[in-house]
Parts: sequence; structure tokens; C-alpha cells
Amino acid sequence: MKSSYDIVVVGGGPAGLVAARTAAEKGAKVLLVEKENEFGRKPCGGGLSSNGLRLSGLEPSERFVENVVEGFVVYAPDESKYVKAENVEIGEEPGYVLDKRSFVYHLALSAADAGVDVWIRSPAIKLVFNDGFVTGVVVKRDLKDVVTVEAKVVIDASGYASRLSRDVLPQGKDYILIPAVQYKMTDVKVDDRFLYFYVGNEVAPEGYAWIFPTGRKTANVGIGVMRPGAKEWLDRFIARHPDIFRGSKILKFESAAVPVGGLIPKLVYNGLMVVGDYAGQVIPLTGGGNHSSMAGGKMAAEVAVAAIGEGDVSASRLSEYEKLYVGGRWGKRIRDSLRAMKAISKLSDNELNRLAELLDGKDIVDLANGINVGRVAKKILSDPVLAAKLAIALLS
Ligand SMILES: Cc1cc2nc3c(=O)[nH]c(=O)nc-3n(C[C@H](O)[C@H](O)[C@H](O)COP(=O)(O)OP(=O)(O)OC[C@H]3O[C@@H](n4cnc5c(N)ncnc54)[C@H](O)[C@@H]3O)c2cc1C
Repeated sequence: MKSSYDIVVVGGGPAGLVAARTAAEKGAKVLLVEKENEFGRKPCGGGLSSNGLRLSGLEPSERFVENVVEGFVVYAPDESKYVKAENVEIGEEPGYVLDKRSFVYHLALSAADAGVDVWIRSPAIKLVFNDGFVTGVVVKRDLKDVVTVEAKVVIDASGYASRLSRDVLPQGKDYILIPAVQYKMTDVKVDDRFLYFYVGNEVAPEGYAWIFPTGRKTANVGIGVMRPGAKEWLDRFIARHPDIFRGSKILKFESAAVPVGGLIPKLVYNGLMVVGDYAGQVIPLTGGGNHSSMAGGKMAAEVAVAAIGEGDVSASRLSEYEKLYVGGRWGKRIRDSLRAMKAISKLSDNELNRLAELLDGKDIVDLANGINVGRVAKKILSDPVLAAKLAIALLS
């Protein structure tokens, strides 16, 4: 059996669905294949900024917004030291905690409404090559029929663990995966207008623990940690905070990894583009990938449709997407955040405590997101120890 499309998108996460919808809205004939029975099964804390939600093209809706947050608190290892910021005070809009499964479902709905053909339960098995070009993909449709789907461009949005594009667009040796686990918990005793982050070598070495309130006293409580036994680290974090979790019940356990090593070396090949987690489109220090992945999906789709219109889907034509993403503000944010992550991961708990005293909420947002890192670095220069261990790395 054979089918033919302008663009086949593999993977119905945020990156793939935004790519598929964008391409269909621009007039392309698009197929999206998703291996699971339904959309949005990948674990996620659900955090998304207002800008991220705008980019998704969806209006905020009670159908998938679980909580609107007004700010955040970052706790230093000595938890009497923390940085608290209200979004309005630091010039940020409110943020959202999404029911990720429902959000991704609504992205799928919007892609279908835009004209995208959708096959669920249909894993892509391998790419089809002809004369050095990817010209399609072999799909196991409905987990039964093996179908070759011809495509002028394949957009691979199949996530961090995918092997589909590895032969031609490998993730490379610097691709770092941090294991993360998350519970959905009841009766979490925090002010649910804020997101909470906890750092420190006793809490989450080279990572952090989070509490993202999801309304009605429930919360996503998770940890990402560069050590074996992420679940044990999360259990320890919970046990150390009886004031927050006394009487809380765990309603859900999920685990996955987050790629925090930055962008992979190449994002395009003849007839092929990679987006989202597979491509390393995640802000390393926060592990947030929803916004940056959707941005990648949108850009890739726009370039793919233009390239198809010109009859040139060579890597050289498609590399406009690399120029826009890698060479643009997203690439810079990811690189700067990666530098910050690497330098901060070398700090002792004492140094993290000092950092918390030095920085304010705006500094934390900028540092974590790789924005105006130079400005924050100059502030850190005032502390001689942190200047040597952090500021210089940030300025280099
Ligand atoms: C525990 C945890 C918490 C997180 N919390 C946050 C957060 O609060 N905020 C934030 O911004 N980011 C968060 N992230 C990161 C965020 O979830 C990801 O960066 C984001 O989902 C990436 O989107 P994606 O579309 O690239 O990939 P994915 O969401 O992984 O989607 C890939 C899709 O491809 C499908 N697929 C895979 N292989 C195939 C195949 N061969 N054929 C067909 N389909 C296939 C998968 O089933 C999946 O649906 C978190 C991650 C984890 C693990």
C-alpha cells in the first residue's frame, strides 16, 4: 500500500502537532503519524509561559489549563534562603500549569481542523531513501498494515528516545538526558499561585525538585537529577517536607527523560528535518521544552512549505530552518542556558546559598532561560568566589 503527502510529520507531541498544523494552514497536504493510542501520554510538569501558549495557537481554556500562576519561588539548599518573584513585578505575564494530555489533545484537534490527516496507533518504522534524499517513511498503520508513505519532506518530531533519524542526523556525544520522575499528589500545602523549585546537592544533584500546583490542593511534584534512583531522590525530598506533604496521597507516577545537552549538531538532511526533544530544543537549566519545541515545529514547517513550493527540498534549502532556529534567539537561549547549567552544577551548597542572596527574581528568570546572561553575570562578579566559578563561565 502506498500514500503520498507533501509533508509527513512523525510524532504527535507539541512540536509535531504545531508543525503539522502550521504546514496545513499554509496549504500543504500533511499526514501526522503517532505511535500511541492517544495523544499526550508523555509525562510533563505542564509548565508553560503566556508566550508559549500564544505560540501554540490555542486560547487559554479551562479544558487544559489546570492553574494560572503569578510567580515562582526558588529555594536555596538552606531553605531559609529563597528568591520569590511575582510575575507582574518582574515584567512577566502569568504562567500556566497545563493538563499536558488535554493540551496535546487540543493541539491535535486544531491540527485535524486545519486539514491534517491523522493516524494514531501508527509508528513510523523507518525512513525511505532515494538518491540521497528522504522521500518518505514506512509506517505500521493501526499497528497492522505496513504502509510506505511518500513525502516531499519528513518532519521527525518523535521525541528524545526515537531512532528514526539517527543514521543521518545523529544526536551526537553531547546529547545529555536527565532522568525525571513525577507524582500527582493531593493535599499539597503550598500557595497555589506560585511554582516552587528546590536546588542543592542534597536535594537534586545537578538538577532540581519542583512543585507545580494544579488546583484543588493537587500538584505535580517531580525531580530531575543526574544520579541513579530519581524516584528515591523524590521520595526523600517529600519526606523532608512534612509541612507540605503530610497526609498527601500519590495519585499518579510517571517518568521520562529530558534532553538538557543543547541542540544536536545538524537539524536537516535532504528531505528531512528534526524538531523538538529529538533535536535538543529544550532550555537546559529549566528542562522546559514545550515552548522551544513548538517554536522549532513552527519554523521547520514554514521553511518546509516554502521549500516544497520552490521544488527544492535539499538540505541546503532546508537549512534556512537551522539558520532561523540555531542562529536565532532560540539557539542563543539554549546555548547560554547550557553554559549557565554547566557552571551552576559545579557550585557547592554554600555557593548556591550565596547565589540566592545575590540574585533577584528577574535575574533568575533571565539566567534560567538564557536571556541577558551577561547582565546577570556582571551582578555575580561582586562575589569573589561566585565570580571565579560562575560569572566568568557565563561571560565567556
Ligand atoms: C517529567 C517531565 C516534566 C517536564 N515538565 C516540563 C514543564 O513543566 N514545562 C516544559 O516546558 N517542559 C517540560 N518537560 C519537557 C517537555 O515535556 C518536552 O520538552 C516536550 O514534550 C517535547 O515535545 P516533543 O513534541 O518534542 O516530544 P514529545 O512530547 O516526546 O512527543 C513525541 C511524540 O512522538 C511519538 N513517537 C515516538 N516515536 C514515534 C514513532 N516512531 N512513530 C510515531 N510516533 C512516535 C511519541 O509517542 C510522542 O507522542 C518535562 C519533561 C519531563 C520528562
